[in-house]
Order: sequence, then C-alpha cells, then structure tokens
Amino acid sequence: LVRNPGETEFHQAVGEVFESLDRVLDKHPEYVEASILERVCEPERQIIFRVPWVDDRGRVQINRGFRVQFNSALGPYKGGLRFHPSVLLGTVKFLGFEQIFKNALTGMPIGGGKGGSDFDPKGKSDAEVMRFCQSFMTELHRHIGEYTDVPAGDIGVGRREIGYLFGQYKRITNRYESGVLTGKGITWGGSLMRTEATGYGAVYFTQHMLETRGMSFDGLDVLVSGSGNVAIYSIEKVHALGGKVVGASDSSGSVYDPAGIDVELLRDVKEQRRARIDQYVAERPGATFLPGERVWQIAREHRVSVALPSATQNELDDADAKLLIDAGVVAVAEGANMPTTPAATALFRQAGVLFGPGKAANAGGVATSALEMQQNASRDSWGAEYTDARLAEIMQGIHERCAETADEYGAPGDYVLGANIAGFLRVADAMLALGVI
Ligand code: NDP
Repeated sequence: LVRNPGETEFHQAVGEVFESLDRVLDKHPEYVEASILERVCEPERQIIFRVPWVDDRGRVQINRGFRVQFNSALGPYKGGLRFHPSVLLGTVKFLGFEQIFKNALTGMPIGGGKGGSDFDPKGKSDAEVMRFCQSFMTELHRHIGEYTDVPAGDIGVGRREIGYLFGQYKRITNRYESGVLTGKGITWGGSLMRTEATGYGAVYFTQHMLETRGMSFDGLDVLVSGSGNVAIYSIEKVHALGGKVVGASDSSGSVYDPAGIDVELLRDVKEQRRARIDQYVAERPGATFLPGERVWQIAREHRVSVALPSATQNELDDADAKLLIDAGVVAVAEGANMPTTPAATALFRQAGVLFGPGKAANAGGVATSALEMQQNASRDSWGAEYTDARLAEIMQGIHERCAETADEYGAPGDYVLGANIAGFLRVADAMLALGVI
C-alpha cells in the first residue's frame, strides 16, 4: 500500500491471490526464505510513455502508454493491450499480476505482462485509430520481441488494432517477426480459433464444473455481461451446447431477449457496425433494452442457472450476487478479468455456487495465443478443428489442475484456491530455480 499508493485494483488482485497462499507457505518455507511473495508483486520492468498523434481535425492529441513486464520466469512476457479511457498504471498492474498465474496455469512457456493506454477508440475514425497505434508502437517496439515480450488484444484492441500495431512494428524493425504479437489476422500469421478462444474456453471450463454436479449446459438459461470479443463467443458456444443466453450488455445498458440472443445480429451490431447495444433491440422483435442497467438485473424476472461476467473488472457486486443466488444460479465463470468483487465472490463460495475465477476460466485466450506463437515459430498454420481440440484439451487440463490442487490443499471444489495455488507453485518453483534475479 505504501509503495503503490492509489493502485486499488492492483491491491485487490494481490490480496485475492495472497489470501489463498497461507497453506502453501506452511508447507514450503523455502518460498518465504527466498522472498518469493515480495518479488512476485514487484514488476521486473514497467514502461510508461507519451503517445502523441494527430486527430482528423489536425489537432495534436496526447495519450499515455503503458507496458508492465511483470514476470518472465516461465517464458517471454505475454499479455494483452487494453485501450480504454479508464486505464491507469494500477489497472495494467492488476491485469499483469493476474496474467502471471493465469499463464502458469495453462502449463505453457509464457511469462506475464500487460499493457495499454487511456486512448478511447470509441467514436474515432479508422485513420485516427491507425495513427494512434503507429505512435504507440513507435515507442513500444524497442521493448518487445518474439523472445522478450509478446503483446495481444484486450478491451478496445481487436484485429484492426493488432494489424496497425504489427504493420508499424514491421516497418520500423524491417523484420516480419510474426511471433511478436498475437491476435493477428489469418492471412498474416494469425491462428484460427484465436478470436473465439477466450469465450469458447470459458464455456468449456464451465461445462467441466457443471459435470462435477452431473449437469450440462443443455436446457440451462444463462446471462452473459458485455458484448465484446469474450461475450460474443461465449454466447455462441453456450448455444452450441444446448443452453440459452437470455441477456447481454455493453456500457450503455443491457438487452433482455427471452427467446435467446441472436448471435449473428449481435455480432453484426457490435463487430461490424461498432454500434451501441440498443441497436440490437431495434432489430430484434421480443427483445427489450434496459438503459444503464447491469445484465444481472434480468435475474429479477428470469431464473438463470449460469452467469458469465465477460465485460470488465468489478462489474458484479454483492447485491448482484444475491440476486443471482436467489434466481437459482449454480455456476459462475469469469470470462473477464476480476469482474466479481471480493464480497460477491465470497457470497458465491459460501452459497456453494461453482465459481471459476478468471485466471482459470478465461485462460483459453492466452493459451491459444501461445498456440499462435508455436505456429509462427514453425512457419505453419493449423486447421480450426485441430486448434479447437487443443483448446478444449488445455481447458480440461486447467480444470483438472485447479480441482486436484484444491483437493490436495483440503478445499475440494474451491476453484479460486486451486487456481491461485497451482499457478503460484509453478511460478515460484521456476523463480527459485533461476536464483535471485
Ligand atoms: P471488448 O473490448 O471486445 O469488449 C468489452 C465489452 O465489455 C464491451 O461490451 C464493453 O462495452 C464492455 N465494457 C468494457 N468496459 C466496460 C465498463 N467500464 N463498464 C461496462 N461495460 C464495459 O473486450 P474483450 O471482450 O476482449 O474483454 C472483456 C474482458 O475479458 C476484459 O476483462 C478482458 O481483460 C478479459 N479477457 C479478454 C481476453 C481476450 O482474449 N480478448 C482474454 C482474457 C480475458 P462498450 O462497448 O460499451 O465499451
């Protein structure tokens, strides 16, 4: 708190991991002796830079860029870039800290990092977004590389932004270094299934949790928050598995669609037209728009079994959790990073709701990014079916790792504890092996 004043989200993320670690430290005094806890919450490097660019009216705009290279004990730093006006250093640090353990949980050779900017892509022209991305990469390029640090997308950064960033990297370095960024387009080094991976992965993880209670998605009603990359592909996969998503949202409000969200229409509105979500309601008979409301409010009138918070941090609080528990929710999986407040998480765990924390449930995205790096390194590209099968296998592995670790540490069914401990052990052992660095 003293060293990192005001970084509330970072404190929250560290607190949530550390509260799971008492039992680990009792068993492993060597981590205490080597100050692993102190070291793991100090980033190896953090870069803050000015991003000047010129808007369509010829005015100079200034944004702030960040890249926090948190931990490279397991591999090159890996984690997305977020472009959103709310981004502060503490936001990037919370995301980077989570990323260390998430990446460790995948079992793949990737360290943890995160970056972004307070730039708001909303309402900007393509040309403005391009000029911003080029300026951002003009500084970032000297800090990243296939063996150093491999950024990807996050909120506000999709294929369009990754394209402009990659173009500028290639131009400045004169290297077609495909493995420097992930989330690329299919024709220029991207992986099939990367776009779908986080959402699909979160649903696979939830499916495994449901199986422990002898259940499946078939016939279940579901709420998903957000309508971005993670939300859209979560909805698509829930429907493919026989469930029905009756609500989705964006920062302007929520839609209630008792017949089940029409994914094609939602994709068209959000991905193609980049419009607000009320446009969906305008074109969808039977759907209603709840301006300014969180999607969880739909649980007041519609019983749901599964909730997938997939928008942003702290978007599901204790009042929302009570509502969902009363509406009969049996499973909650975090498609977003830290969307559930600590008080809400505690309520779900006390009520015996299956609760998949983000670092486990949404790890399919970064895992598929690591598969993209493998394809780039071998100058190969795999088919969609093969990549989806690898993703499904990875999510099953993460589920098993969390469940077995929770059992081993005396808390069966506690995926929060299982994910935190399993991720931490892998990183801590590598840090010990590499000496005091
Ligand atoms: P997108 O930018 O594609 O979509 C974000 C969605 O969340 C939009 O619907 C957006 O609404 C909504 N949202 C964002 N900020 C807020 C806010 N402050 N209040 C209310 N709604 C908000 O991002 P992604 O889908 O990629 O990311 C969503 C979450 O998933 C994030 O927490 C991200 O870190 C996490 N994640 C993403 C991965 C990926 O592969 N993309 C991987 C792992 C985790 P609006 O359009 O109105 O802004």
